[in-house]
Amino acid sequence: MTEQTLPSTGREWHLAARPQGWPVPEDFALVEAPVQAPAAGQILVRNEYLSVDPYMRGRMNDVKSYVPPFRLGAVMDGGAVGRVVASAAKGFAVGDAVLHGLGWREYATLDADKAIRVDDALPLQSYLGVLGMTGLTAYAGLLEVGGFQPGEAVFVSGAAGAVGSMVGQIAKLRGASLVVGSAGSDEKVRMLTEELGFDVAFNYRNGPVAEQLAKAAPEGIDVYFDNVGGEHLEAAIGALRLKGRAVLCGAIAQYNDTTPPVGPRNLALAIGKRLRLEGMLVGDHYALQPAFVAEVGGWMAEGRLVFEETVVEGFDRTVEAFLGLLRGANTGKMLVRVDG
Ligand code: NDP
Repeated sequence: MTEQTLPSTGREWHLAARPQGWPVPEDFALVEAPVQAPAAGQILVRNEYLSVDPYMRGRMNDVKSYVPPFRLGAVMDGGAVGRVVASAAKGFAVGDAVLHGLGWREYATLDADKAIRVDDALPLQSYLGVLGMTGLTAYAGLLEVGGFQPGEAVFVSGAAGAVGSMVGQIAKLRGASLVVGSAGSDEKVRMLTEELGFDVAFNYRNGPVAEQLAKAAPEGIDVYFDNVGGEHLEAAIGALRLKGRAVLCGAIAQYNDTTPPVGPRNLALAIGKRLRLEGMLVGDHYALQPAFVAEVGGWMAEGRLVFEETVVEGFDRTVEAFLGLLRGANTGKMLVRVDG
């Protein structure tokens, strides 16, 4: 085993209570825990960046879902990148950069086969965003689930966020005739058209989504990438053309609701228009990873794809970053820099 001088304890964020509606800081606890030296086949990682993601809100509820709920009194798992500081595993050396799923903690001891070594020629946090889970969600959702074809018109909600900002840019780079995005502030709307190359964008807080979408895409859309649900989905069903597709990726408008959502009330339109509405989980699409990294990495290298990040500095501000994400405090991928 190779190792540097290691601390005996590190900080972790635990789930302290299950929220009703919007989560609050008191639902989390900052805990000092022993740092475990790696056993045979394990590595010890010092995290550099943590991911905070909307799906984590669902895991705070004690309900059966596609991922098990977080346990009370246990660490909030999730994407993290860092460097190996001690290794008892073949093929991993001190200093190696790795991606893993052990989440909101300063130090993680894990089986080496649960870590993915990443190339640190790129900024490490890219593997949590543009080249990571959210980037792949956008790529697979638009191309594989949505069956996007060049010349089609695309609408994406949550357009200034991690997934949405990639969806719009990939659509444009793959030859969309029109890319429309919606977001929750005028500043985000400006960024979409002026920096990310969207053709049209609107602020969903400025008026009914259906009206703003009709103005943005008077001839309708072929693909709707749904990050939001509710009113957005209803508006998109109205705007989709014959044989249109809606990719149901997320429904963030209702993650903190305590009563069932209304709508979409116009679902019957899907019959006559022969629409396809299909749910997606990124986990089903990891076979696309090499093609995704090659194409998106290429666009990044050529400077044709802008990847926005909002980095909250400091491990102690992880909860603030997560709660901010749910309210739209981010543009692009929301991240925490552990040492900020
Ligand atoms: P984002 O970076 O998009 O952050 C969340 C954004 O949601 C906020 O910035 C905010 O932006 C927006 N938002 C919050 N409340 C509302 C609301 N009531 N109406 C409209 N927008 C709202 O997160 P991600 O890119 O990581 O995730 C986007 C969506 O994709 C989420 O729904 C997530 O659950 C889903 N997802 C699904 C995956 C899958 O496998 N199916 C994988 C990854 C993500 P604004 O200021 O514009 O309101």
